Amino acid sequence: MSFTIEATDGTARAGVLHTAHGDVPTPAFMPVGTKATVKSLDPDELRTLGTRILLGNTYHLHFRPGEDVIAELGGLHAFMGWDGPILTDSGGFQVFSLRDTLLASDDDGVTFRSVYDGSAERFTPELAARIQTDLGSDVAMCLDICLPPGVPREDLERAVQRTTLWAQRQRDLPRAPGQLRFAITQGGLDRELRARSAEGLVALDFDGYAIGGLSVGEERAPMFAATTAAAAELPAAKPRYFMGIGDPEGVIEVISRGVDMFDCVLPTRTARTGSALTWEGRLNMRNARFARDPRPLDDGCACPACTRFTRAYIRHLVNQDEILGLRLLSLHNLRFLLDLVVAAREAIERGAFASWSADALARLALPTERELTP
Ligand SMILES: [Zn+2]
Repeated sequence: MSFTIEATDGTARAGVLHTAHGDVPTPAFMPVGTKATVKSLDPDELRTLGTRILLGNTYHLHFRPGEDVIAELGGLHAFMGWDGPILTDSGGFQVFSLRDTLLASDDDGVTFRSVYDGSAERFTPELAARIQTDLGSDVAMCLDICLPPGVPREDLERAVQRTTLWAQRQRDLPRAPGQLRFAITQGGLDRELRARSAEGLVALDFDGYAIGGLSVGEERAPMFAATTAAAAELPAAKPRYFMGIGDPEGVIEVISRGVDMFDCVLPTRTARTGSALTWEGRLNMRNARFARDPRPLDDGCACPACTRFTRAYIRHLVNQDEILGLRLLSLHNLRFLLDLVVAAREAIERGAFASWSADALARLALPTERELTP
């Protein structure tokens, strides 16, 4: 068994994903190491922050430096110096979200222009699986078709059909030792298509299932409604992975709907724009109101930024474009989110998730700096 459930509370679950590189308590947030690095942080720092599993991007690693280079150097774990679990995506999101690079898509695969040099490239389900086998990730994702919001229903329907067809072809391809393989459900906000997608993929019996094609720019309320519908169609005994959510409110909302895993660049990308995730909302550390602020970014946070440095100092670093400022914000934002998920898990174990999440969402909904500052 690659997944065990230890406690449930309503539809929220606390479990453990068992991988070739160790166990991952769930719910689990996966920091994104797009190019075999979580930008500006080293693996020891990630471990100390509480990271239990990382995400790597098949698309980017395929083009730079190439899975052959990584395989020759011992696989992705050895290459990036991280010996914990790694999930690799399939490249489908990049291929289909970088829309102006898409050239043609058919039942066999998809042709697109590489963002690196503009050359025409082709991904097939077989190639996506082989790249991930060469990378040696612990969880490999099936190549899927992820469409932007608002596309005609017949396009969504074709994406569901083709994603299922591709999953079927990937189901029994060779894997890295101990590698798990997850399929990705699609269907946008359409309940009937989400159900159809789940039905087709669940019949193929994967190790886990992702909810894909959401958090791509649609409104939040229908997105969460679709998450509820999508999760309900997936087998209770298998892990569920919501692709691409990492804001504190969103994470709580998907956990409450029975999601076990999620990833997002938000904590680190937000850091690089100079913002901190806190219980007071998102703070823009460039703001003059922090110039003499002696407090840490967030009271009670045990990250390296909060235990040693003031808001005034971090504001100074960020405004002077000092690398340390962006690093400290990255450390803090990841810690904030990882701690939030640990707290969610504890609440599920105590059977107190409903009250914990209501309280957390109310705190997070307090007026943010942007609303307070004209
Ligand atoms: Zn902190």
